[in-house]
Amino acid sequence: MSRKADSFKTQTIKIDRQQLGDNQFIPAVELLRSGEVVGFPTETVYGLGGLITRPEAIGKIFEAKNRPPDNPLIVHISDFQMLDELVLELPRGAEKLCRKFWPGPLTVLFKKSPLVPEIVTAGLSTVAVRMPSHQVARKLIELAGAPVAAPSANLSGRPSPTTAEHVYHDLKGKIPLIIDGGKSELGVESTVIDLDRDPPVLLRPGGLNYEELQQLIPQLELVERGSKNDDNLPGELIERPTTPGLKYKHYSPKAYLILIEKPMARTAGYLTKIWEKYHQKEKRVGWIHTSGKIELPEEIKQDSRTSVVDLTPAGKLDSREHDSKLVARELFASLRALDNKGSEVIVVEGIGYEKEGLAVMNRLKKAASEII
Ligand code: AMP
Ligand code: MG
Repeated sequence: MSRKADSFKTQTIKIDRQQLGDNQFIPAVELLRSGEVVGFPTETVYGLGGLITRPEAIGKIFEAKNRPPDNPLIVHISDFQMLDELVLELPRGAEKLCRKFWPGPLTVLFKKSPLVPEIVTAGLSTVAVRMPSHQVARKLIELAGAPVAAPSANLSGRPSPTTAEHVYHDLKGKIPLIIDGGKSELGVESTVIDLDRDPPVLLRPGGLNYEELQQLIPQLELVERGSKNDDNLPGELIERPTTPGLKYKHYSPKAYLILIEKPMARTAGYLTKIWEKYHQKEKRVGWIHTSGKIELPEEIKQDSRTSVVDLTPAGKLDSREHDSKLVARELFASLRALDNKGSEVIVVEGIGYEKEGLAVMNRLKKAASEII
């Protein structure tokens, strides 16, 4: 069946993670077992899942998202037993690491077993696996009785979805069901690591902070900061990226996105200059204000063609420049909201690379049309 925009009347069902009953999952489990796909919540972002035991479902995931077929999917499991079936061997240190951080926003690469269809891994010999902490996700996988392959439930290239409404917006008519389990509390995708390299590498920064991983793996290497022309990347990894997803433009709103990266560019005077350039051209400007140290000039805040999203640290006693957790949680939703308001240009005040900042800046650099 082709995933035309009108193939389905997409249903949404709400499931409260605090009151899980098996019956609520019946429609989703039946769809999965019949080789269909389902949108579901995780703590990172919403996923579009299909059972790995039904390869036709995996094809439907790529089709609905319009995802390039050489970008592999992450396989989600609900318990450690499921891991045994998926992998041939555990890399050194993997067991300790997974026992500590699972369930949670960590994805680990393993040598795949023949049970994992090629379409899931895009022909690679490794499979990326994670155990989500969101109770609705784990219950769904448990009741479906098999691992669930799932990328983010957005159209390829768009900001990832952090609510069921975002999934509906992108995939309505193309998928039969979305489970609404509330807002994703982390808001950025999982951290992906490869332990089979020496030293081990962090392939994609994400919901689990680099600093936390480093406590267990001090030699963990950071491959990518997400810059388009990042000279930190070792040559071999630029030529043959080990995470195929690295090479695609990603996370982008419809608007022209300007990322202010340099801290020196973050002064009220400089912000006004950037804003004026587009204001004079009568562009509708969306502004994501993150710095608690800069008061956004009134002319920007008051202008009728400008929409401001305030992601500054809350409360007068909060003296941090940025609340990186808040920015991570709200980033994709803010980009989507500004698109919906018709912003033609979106300016984002970048944040530091510490903690959640690493994943936030990685996403923004991939999404940006211009970096200042
Ligand atoms: P998404 O779920 O949309 O965030 O995409 C999954 C990410 O995991 C993509 O960046 C993939 O390239 C990456 N990934 C999945 N499987 C593998 C694998 N076997 N090796 C390297 N990266 C992978
Ligand atoms: Mg994605």
